[in-house]
Amino acid sequence: MSPIVGIDLGTTNSLIGVMEAGFPILLAGSDGERLTPSVVHFPAQGDPVVGHAALRMRVLEPAATVYSAKRFIGRRVGEETAPTGFALTGAEGTPVRFEVRGKPYPPEAISAKVLAKLRADAERALQCEVTRAVITVPAYFNDAQRNATKAAGELAGFTVERIVNEPTAAALAYGLNHLRDHARVAVFDLGGGTFDISILELHGGVFQVLATHGDTRLGGDDVDEALVGLLSEKLEALAQTHGHEPGQSSQPALRARLREAAVDAKHRLSSETVCSVELPFLLGNDSLVYRLERSELERLARPILERTRAHCIRVLADARLSAADLDEVILVGGATRMPLVRAMVEGIFGRTPNISQNPDEAVALGATLQAGILSGAVQNVVLLDVTPLSLGIETCGGVMNVIIPRNSTIPIKAGEMFTNAVAGQRVMRISVLQGEREMARDNWRLGEFELEFEAAPKGKARVGVQFEIDANGILQVLARDTGTGSQKVVEMASAVDVSDEAVEKMLEDSLEHAFEDVNARVFTEAKLKAEELLPAVRNALALVGDALDEAEKALITQRVSEVEQAVRDGASQALQRANRALDDATQRLATLLVERAMQGGKTG
Ligand code: ADP
Ligand code: MG
Repeated sequence: MSPIVGIDLGTTNSLIGVMEAGFPILLAGSDGERLTPSVVHFPAQGDPVVGHAALRMRVLEPAATVYSAKRFIGRRVGEETAPTGFALTGAEGTPVRFEVRGKPYPPEAISAKVLAKLRADAERALQCEVTRAVITVPAYFNDAQRNATKAAGELAGFTVERIVNEPTAAALAYGLNHLRDHARVAVFDLGGGTFDISILELHGGVFQVLATHGDTRLGGDDVDEALVGLLSEKLEALAQTHGHEPGQSSQPALRARLREAAVDAKHRLSSETVCSVELPFLLGNDSLVYRLERSELERLARPILERTRAHCIRVLADARLSAADLDEVILVGGATRMPLVRAMVEGIFGRTPNISQNPDEAVALGATLQAGILSGAVQNVVLLDVTPLSLGIETCGGVMNVIIPRNSTIPIKAGEMFTNAVAGQRVMRISVLQGEREMARDNWRLGEFELEFEAAPKGKARVGVQFEIDANGILQVLARDTGTGSQKVVEMASAVDVSDEAVEKMLEDSLEHAFEDVNARVFTEAKLKAEELLPAVRNALALVGDALDEAEKALITQRVSEVEQAVRDGASQALQRANRALDDATQRLATLLVERAMQGGKTG
């Protein structure tokens, strides 16, 4: 069977890993690098180029090179503006398309190229076919963005076994699942172009995202830009001294060399306090040599990095926590290798951040661990899982009553109170359903049982139904008559293990039938109302009908037959209208009935 790989599909860089002999291992590409820039270059002829090679082409042919596609995945034109370089096409409100060499590409097609390169690298390293993957996404990604990411995986030939939140993956890589239950951690993720801060809570073996904040326009790239600015000044000074034309630093080729030198110096200054920036033969025979100190870099970087502070304060407020409530603060993303970032995080949270993992590899390692959990290679680790479909019970008239909505993190417990639909009823049938359709018959029936309870007038019995899904995805249903305390607990067939295709089909069907489904539900509810109304009216007519005049009586009879007709026709809207009309027509009848009852009460 194909191994399951873990993938960090980053805005700037992507990585792929696999479990080997019980350890998560990140795989290197044919160039020997484990980080693959998430960049795709389309040459005039031949196949697209991905990764480092594409990154090098970006400076020469920016219009034919797409980067940061992740910013646009699952988005519509107008929601996000293009960084630079390549063009976007399409009308406002339609899905974003990049236009490269006159051809439109959706962002997922670009991400798919990056994923396909990672897949090919993995197949080369592992010497086997690789078709199954876990892919991470930012915690704030919505359904459309997650689905588009999944689509990218499928385009690249993967079956996407799971989409995992990046901070959750990072927490897993840091081994934070071994913290005591109810631990809370902050994940500070500063990448190339995005900043995310998330607060997670570990509860019952599962990480839950309590709050998330960030800036999709803040990252290491901004520091690079500031440093390029500084080096440009040095270049202009060099030009002036040696009698070259001014304005050299705006030439794309020179600027590209400055950027390369800036990134390299920035990286070196994370471990050294001073470095020499050397650009031989930058202007003709003249070379640029500059001694850059870490303190000078930090002077440039500080105002940029300071922008993370407000988000950290906000995320704590959203999670209703103070920094002291956190058990750990972990650093993720290549840019957190900068000592200044570490010092700032320490200042903001009042604690030394945990840096036991490689910040730019933690998310990929976590994704790989998650893949290992799914394949069974990793045991005794938290199962990060959600319910793929809603769970509920059938109520009156065959309607689905949802108790645990789809996408709830498990383990989970939830319940609701139900009552008897008929006076004197002694048993309640609990029919457990899974699915997204409004009517019980269109969903899957996981199991059924009956609970006996004390006979009570209609609507007076109180039966509590509780669903509990444990970390293994096993659903237990408890039903209790709160009057007598008698209860039953029944274990259902696995509630979580549903094949992807089946879930997909269910979701598609629920969308396709949404209109009919709602209609069916409205009809069922209106019919229940009619079934209550009709006998009550007949009863009242028999008791106090003689007090009405003929015209009134005729109108009521007419309204009754309209309700009966609408029930026969199965017309939901007409039935709702007929019910209301019958209600109106019987106002006086109802009053008479009450008066008669009160007189009866006085005399009897
Ligand atoms: P993303 O999550 O956006 O794909 P990464 O986590 O790979 O991005 O982070 C990329 C950023 O990290 C880049 O700006 C890169 O320059 C920066 N970076 C990588 N290594 C270092 C380092 N040693 N020192 C400072 N910054 C670094
Ligand atoms: Mg990242």
